[in-house]
Amino acid sequence: MNALSNKNALVTGGSRGIGAATVLALAEAGADVAFTYNSSPDAAATIVKEIERLGRRGFAIEADATDATVVANAVREAHGSLGGLDILVNNAGMGAIGPIEGFTSAEIDRALAINVRAVYAACQAAAPLLADGGRLIHLGSCAAARVTGPGMTLYAMTKAALVGLSKGLAREFGVRNVTSNVVQPGPIDTDMNPADGPYADPQIAHLALDRFGSPAEVAAAITYLAGPHAAYITGTELTIDGGHTA
Ligand code: NDP
Repeated sequence: MNALSNKNALVTGGSRGIGAATVLALAEAGADVAFTYNSSPDAAATIVKEIERLGRRGFAIEADATDATVVANAVREAHGSLGGLDILVNNAGMGAIGPIEGFTSAEIDRALAINVRAVYAACQAAAPLLADGGRLIHLGSCAAARVTGPGMTLYAMTKAALVGLSKGLAREFGVRNVTSNVVQPGPIDTDMNPADGPYADPQIAHLALDRFGSPAEVAAAITYLAGPHAAYITGTELTIDGGHTA
């Protein structure tokens, strides 16, 4: 029997990158998976087909993370379509890189809305729906633990906020044996942070390992946290960063 047989999962931002790899890893481990997307309907449709090819049920839900009401409705829709909810992976996020003087109030609000408020809204909506023994997993960043140069202030702030949110959730949900943890990736080769992009070499220079990570490597850690062997891990951070914080 697969580790996640009979489990129902929702991944936000599952159309591309780490989210897409996570959707497929959870399905491979036996879960039925719903995921949200925003601007990539074709990629989302492909991911649904991949889930079905793995023999699981897949549901793609259009939900812009800038709108907390839309996010909450997506959680309820996922719960209804799947017939339950055991695992919520808050993955959807945006980069917000640049000097502190450069961001307008609207840009700061957008980064906070997508990277922080949407996570709160998803967990709030999931609270009455999540099964006992469930999992809350949030995509933070190694930048919450160590910032290696200028231009990371806004992004690091949004990702550090998830550490506090997750610890609070661990305390709120612990009585139901629901765990809450942050996964903190280092540089991972995705559209957001391509391994052949102009900022790749300076990032690699701060690592112990001499390469970017892959979405599948992060998805494997998320799948572990979602599974039965991680039942006693809560309120902490799992770092997958090639030694960025070493
Ligand atoms: P990508 O940009 O490659 O993919 C982002 C995913 O999030 C897409 O599926 C996208 O969906 C979705 N998304 C983006 N904006 C919204 C929105 N407004 N509403 C709903 N969905 C949205 O990012 P990564 O895979 O690289 O990153 C995933 C997570 O990991 C993020 O939280 C990121 O901050 C974090 N992370 C990434 C690192 C990296 O080096 N790549 C390092 C550390 C953390 P669609 O295309 O449909 O809009």
